[in-house]
Amino acid sequence: MIYADNAATTKMSRIAIDAMLPYMEEIWGNPSSLYEAGQKAAEALCSAREHIAACIGADPREIYFTSGGSEADNQAILSAARFGQRSGKKHIISTAFEHHAVLHTLKKLEKEGYETELLDVHENGMIYPEQVAEAIREDTCLVTIMYANNEIGSVMPIPEIGAICRQRKVPFHTDAVQAVGHLPVNVQEQNIDLLSLSAHKFHGPKGIGVLYARQGIPLVNLIEGGAQERGRRAGTENVPAIMSMAAALEEACAHMDQNTEKLLRLRDKLIDGLSRIPHSALNGDKEKRLPGNVNFCFEGIEGESLLLLLDDKGICASSGSACTSGSLDPSHVLLATGRPHEVAHGSLRLSLCADNTEEDVEEILQAVPEVVGYLREMSPLWKDKVSGKREFVLS
Ligand SMILES: *Cc1c(COP(=O)(O)O)cnc(C)c1O
Repeated sequence: MIYADNAATTKMSRIAIDAMLPYMEEIWGNPSSLYEAGQKAAEALCSAREHIAACIGADPREIYFTSGGSEADNQAILSAARFGQRSGKKHIISTAFEHHAVLHTLKKLEKEGYETELLDVHENGMIYPEQVAEAIREDTCLVTIMYANNEIGSVMPIPEIGAICRQRKVPFHTDAVQAVGHLPVNVQEQNIDLLSLSAHKFHGPKGIGVLYARQGIPLVNLIEGGAQERGRRAGTENVPAIMSMAAALEEACAHMDQNTEKLLRLRDKLIDGLSRIPHSALNGDKEKRLPGNVNFCFEGIEGESLLLLLDDKGICASSGSACTSGSLDPSHVLLATGRPHEVAHGSLRLSLCADNTEEDVEEILQAVPEVVGYLREMSPLWKDKVSGKREFVLS
């Protein structure tokens, strides 16, 4: 099997698995318990918090463990909204191509009378700092813009956007789930007030993540109960998962340069090869792009059929289409970049990790043109285009 869907989730690394085991087999006490078995778990948590903080340039007191990226996004946005409301600020700036954990939280706030302004995404999948500067108003209580897009891989100018927010005294949150462990992220240098990360996107376990909140940024609780996470997130900590997340993050950061070098080589080979397919187009920016992300639109095909046929060939990939929700709606991300519905339906995302090989890339480059050709042959729409009855959208 060739796994090329690392933006959806990653395989746990050996180091991440090994880091969990002692906290299931030996040190399984409750970190809130006062006897030694509990205190050992509490010490472990403390060290994990320090390690994770160091990896993103934060203070350990600014790290809140959550159940993952979605929870961190929800808590960051709801916190800034509630805090803004106290001083009459109910305007939130975001973008049209955020993850649904952000977009659906904003929808909920709209129903409560907040005004959300979604910045236009450029054709290359970018948001520029000037757009943020122009959109900020007196009553803006939050800017939330993702670090790197999970579908098309474009990487935003986060330090510049953060600098504008800081100058205008507006809290800045970034969903950095696709970035942490893959790009150098530093909350201090990059002017970030709130940040979400998730372990299963960097070879750690699922169901665990972090909300970073700069000191002085108030948080509301999504879950009431005990006093864990300085009273901001109740519930006994998932110590094995947290220890594993810390180990996975340290490993990812230690090997980042080396992994990036390899990924860029594989990614660009895929991009070059797939560009040769006629009437195809790369989605997202060519330069400002996650090292493992490849995303193409192929005219005249359905993303779902492409995925099923690739699956038959042992290749796990994903489409921009929201197949998970069972709907045939094209990806909101591709639509946000201005791709027409028809073309947005025929997308393919390949997201690589450092375990992928040159042979994987060669096999993919063999399979995709074959499958695209096969699907086009069966498509009446494609036939109309070839015969000149309809126009091609992509050159
Ligand atoms: C995966 C992902 C999330 C959700 O993280 P979970 O830990 O699965 O809840 C949020 N944002 C982005 C950009 C993601 O890629």
